[in-house]
Amino acid sequence: MPHTLPPLPYAYNALEPYIDAQTMQIHHTKHHQAYIDKLNAALEKHPELAQKPLEDMLKDLNSVPEDIRAAIRNHGGGHYNHSLFWEIMDKNPKAATGRLKTDIEAKWSSVEKFKEEFSQAAAGVFGSGWAWLVLDSAGLSILTTLNQDCPLSQNKNPIIGLDVWEHAYYLKYQNRRPEYIKTWIENCLCGEKCETRYQKIKK
Ligand code: MN
Repeated sequence: MPHTLPPLPYAYNALEPYIDAQTMQIHHTKHHQAYIDKLNAALEKHPELAQKPLEDMLKDLNSVPEDIRAAIRNHGGGHYNHSLFWEIMDKNPKAATGRLKTDIEAKWSSVEKFKEEFSQAAAGVFGSGWAWLVLDSAGLSILTTLNQDCPLSQNKNPIIGLDVWEHAYYLKYQNRRPEYIKTWIENCLCGEKCETRYQKIKK
């Protein structure tokens, strides 16, 4: 079954004025859709993989046939990463209050300190990529990846992902990536949704 674009859990203008409706609409219907179209086109060459969960392929890229490995990494990664990105944002974001909060405080001493370090990592991505909060056997850590590389391919589970490709912010913020990052963390990122994701992954 081909992969399809998941509907946004809110309207395109829900994150105004922090992320403008035009950016959200183009990002979702053009950029995300294009990753899905190219992922599906690659999978047509290997119908035996059509039913295989995308997560499983990203976790073990070496098991993906070589002729479509780059496509799964780039376009499969693009599909997975964007699906997560939409999921963890909210119009009225609530703070994390459970295990995620506790574990972040244990590692970074405070949520504010974590946000600071995460923001610096995101601002420091050279070119197009993502900043992540990930969980692996060593616990929580901050990670950045280039292009659409997914933390799953490094055996890490993403909890928070911030898209710092220019297409995510350029219409409103132009070259001011740090302003986009700060605005996103303070006004769009929903700690409660991240908490839910964390508890599912950690159980
Ligand atoms: Mn994007």
